[in-house]
Amino acid sequence: MNIDIIGAGIGGLTTAIALEQKGIKTRIFEQTEVLKPVGAGIILANNAMQVYAKLGLQKVIEKNGNPISSMNITKANLKPLSKIDLTRFEQKYNAKNIAIHRGTLQQILIDKLRSTSIKLDHKLTSIQQNANDCYLKFENGEQINSSIILGADGLNSIVRQHIFPSNSIRNANQICWRGITDYDLPVKYRNELNEAWGKSERFGFVQIAKNKVYWYALKSFKKDKNEFSINNLEQYFSEYNSVIKDIIKSTQKEQIYTAEISDLKLTNSWYKNNICLIGDSAHATTPNMGQGACQAIEDAFVLSECLDKYEVDQAFMEYQKLRLPKAHQVVKASWLIGKMAHWKNPIIRSLRNHVLKLTPESISAKQSERIFELDRI
Ligand SMILES: Cc1cc2nc3c(=O)[nH]c(=O)nc-3n(C[C@H](O)[C@H](O)[C@H](O)COP(=O)(O)OP(=O)(O)OC[C@H]3O[C@@H](n4cnc5c(N)ncnc54)[C@H](O)[C@@H]3O)c2cc1C
Repeated sequence: MNIDIIGAGIGGLTTAIALEQKGIKTRIFEQTEVLKPVGAGIILANNAMQVYAKLGLQKVIEKNGNPISSMNITKANLKPLSKIDLTRFEQKYNAKNIAIHRGTLQQILIDKLRSTSIKLDHKLTSIQQNANDCYLKFENGEQINSSIILGADGLNSIVRQHIFPSNSIRNANQICWRGITDYDLPVKYRNELNEAWGKSERFGFVQIAKNKVYWYALKSFKKDKNEFSINNLEQYFSEYNSVIKDIIKSTQKEQIYTAEISDLKLTNSWYKNNICLIGDSAHATTPNMGQGACQAIEDAFVLSECLDKYEVDQAFMEYQKLRLPKAHQVVKASWLIGKMAHWKNPIIRSLRNHVLKLTPESISAKQSERIFELDRI
């Protein structure tokens, strides 16, 4: 079996590794000329790390990242509102939650590939479906026949637009800034993810390596992200805890990435004939649960198992059946959290904070457990 993967993001690379380990040949086609490391961090939650353990990557990721033992929501002054203790999941699944530089993770995944070729500067522009295979055209003029295609080409997927032209992208009307800074975080925060909620903005930070802190900040806008300027970041968070203000101050402006937050409207079909979607192309989510890449990593594992076990048609069907409920649960919950976090009304906000404080940790832990538990194949 030969499989062509469009996109060398976390989803495409992990899928190629998982398929290789099943003895399935793959090629990856990536639009960029160079696989540049994104200057941001990522949190690989327990579910993703269980997959990486199965793929023989757990140790190297743990060695190059930083373990996170709790995820906290706090007020702007870093006083706690809610906390999820992750150590019980570490013990249950024998896998830690790891915060790591995206570039480091990308290199680890590339280094793990053995037979897969990554064809850079190959932006897919069109797909023509024939009786038994597909004819792919790339912007560089190359054209190939392909028998099985996996669309791992992200939120704006060309592959998805070919098989499901009517799927649409939802804009959350939130701007997001992300950065990495050399910063000596106080010891008590070094193994935690903290996300501070303010009035219609929030700020998260986590250590990804010694003296390296990854942070993200989000703010709601009315019409478009140009309502805000990166030059005013310190002002937007001027009422936050001094650690947060120091983190912003210590980051070089050129190293800050700005994006608008979007997701994909839920769709119940992820495949058609011999073309199947994985990761963000199938179920892009807002980043509020830190689960987008983790879900792509789960896709990679489940799809490779299904392709190993069944004929292609059935494999795609079983994969969708297994993966869709959890991926959709993440998209829905994440959207809701994103909205709640930016509630403006002070009375509703105070009520929300009260409820968060009163919610027993066991309830939040139960919700996390549903996300961390891998699908059984
Ligand atoms: C602010 C923010 C923070 C986040 N934090 C986390 C987190 O902590 N944990 C987590 O699990 N997730 C997080 N996510 C989500 C995560 O980044 C995505 O879900 C994940 O990267 C999706 O991986 P993917 O491989 O499906 O798609 P992508 O990463 O988008 O990769 C798609 C690849 O396809 C290529 N491509 C696109 N079009 C074409 C084409 N036509 N031809 C060829 N190649 C093409 C692209 O260049 C790219 O390399 C976050 C997202 C954001 C926005």
